[in-house]
Amino acid sequence: MQRCAECNQPFKWNQFYKSLWLAFRPVTCRNCATVHKVASASRLLATLLLLVPVIYITIFMQNLGLGEVVLPIAAVVALVSLGLPFLLKYEKAKSSIDTNNGNR
Ligand SMILES: [Zn+2]
Repeated sequence: MQRCAECNQPFKWNQFYKSLWLAFRPVTCRNCATVHKVASASRLLATLLLLVPVIYITIFMQNLGLGEVVLPIAAVVALVSLGLPFLLKYEKAKSSIDTNNGNR
């Protein structure tokens, strides 16, 4: 598991897991409170890993009913999201005051 860029304190898996489901919310170090953001490449990777299997299942199972497609999609999303905290790279946020925040 990744460590804090400032104090080397290891992050917990559930910190990343929560961050993932809160639309990549920044993770704060439990020791020194340094804010870490998801690297943009990791954000893209996570989106692809979640989207590709869902599209794949939707295309190849379109002969099945909606109820039969929902289960494999839910299984894939659950599995991918469990593994993502190990794959995503978080980096120290450059500034705690983001002056461009209101424009996004
Ligand atoms: Zn820290």
